[in-house]
Amino acid sequence: MIRFGLKEVDSVQLRFDPLTGAETRINPSRAHRMKQGYGNMLAQTTMEEMGRLSRPGCPFCPDRVEESTSTFPLDMVPEGRIKRRHSLVVPNIHPFAPNHGVVILGDQHFRRPDEFGPELLTDNLLAARDFVRAVVRSRPRSRHPVYILNYMPPSAGSIVHPHSQVWVEHRPVPNLRHILRLSRRYFNRYGRAYWDDLPAKEKHLGERFIGENASLSVLASFAPRGFREVQFIFKGVSSLTEVQDGQAADMAQALRCVLLGYRSLGVGSFNLASFSAGAEETPDHFRLSFRLISRPYPAGVYTNDSGPTEKLYGFRVVDTLPEEVATSIRPYFSRS
Ligand SMILES: [Zn+2]
Repeated sequence: MIRFGLKEVDSVQLRFDPLTGAETRINPSRAHRMKQGYGNMLAQTTMEEMGRLSRPGCPFCPDRVEESTSTFPLDMVPEGRIKRRHSLVVPNIHPFAPNHGVVILGDQHFRRPDEFGPELLTDNLLAARDFVRAVVRSRPRSRHPVYILNYMPPSAGSIVHPHSQVWVEHRPVPNLRHILRLSRRYFNRYGRAYWDDLPAKEKHLGERFIGENASLSVLASFAPRGFREVQFIFKGVSSLTEVQDGQAADMAQALRCVLLGYRSLGVGSFNLASFSAGAEETPDHFRLSFRLISRPYPAGVYTNDSGPTEKLYGFRVVDTLPEEVATSIRPYFSRS
């Protein structure tokens, strides 16, 4: 049973994640509060300018990528690097995880969020999947893949040239470990996967459901962990290693639609993160999903969206109502 816990205290909504109970506080009027950083008035020029200024010396641009990146051990990746049309997987030279790769997204140094084409995104996901499969084959203890895409510096992405990261851990990352445990508990209790029940319930309610295709459902999170959080929940697939080419294309198409919606909402920076079961596991209680959140616009000095409540107190304060996010993005989805 999916329960959407919500309490209203003064003008603040306290919302609780239906699976984990994690708390998010939403006051949409905060979106209009005075923010004494650079405003969005300057945004477009600043963002394009950041693209132009960061181009010289970029390690991922085609004229440098050969010399500035290294290769994986040959017993892991026999060709040294994995290339898939517009995407190239190379080792992360400053890793924070085992088997840590970077997947460069195309030759173009700077892209606006609406310039990520479906082919480019499909190649990127498939290149990441192929890297994960190569690691799993050659490093038997490494079974838990993670894929992230940090776009522009406010997302914690340090290089402007579009790239994602992919790595394979010995056990699930901490928050995912918790989610997997609670997903199993839900399955044991109700005999169904939370990850099948949630999209069905959201589709029925219609308030936060954005759309679906053959491979996945797209919805705005009831108790988001970040601003404008959108979840992509796969049907019948649990791990990144299982994703077939057509399913990657469906994910890319859905992501493309949401990024067009993000552009219309003035988003200029984001994080995308996978939640995957271990390689070659197909548990009944879990489905592969991705979460996308917006981050502050890359424009000079800005007001951060993450403060002491997220960093130190363990609850989130969000400006954006999920129901409004879904309403804004839905038209871009149905148009595709
Ligand atoms: Zn570049």
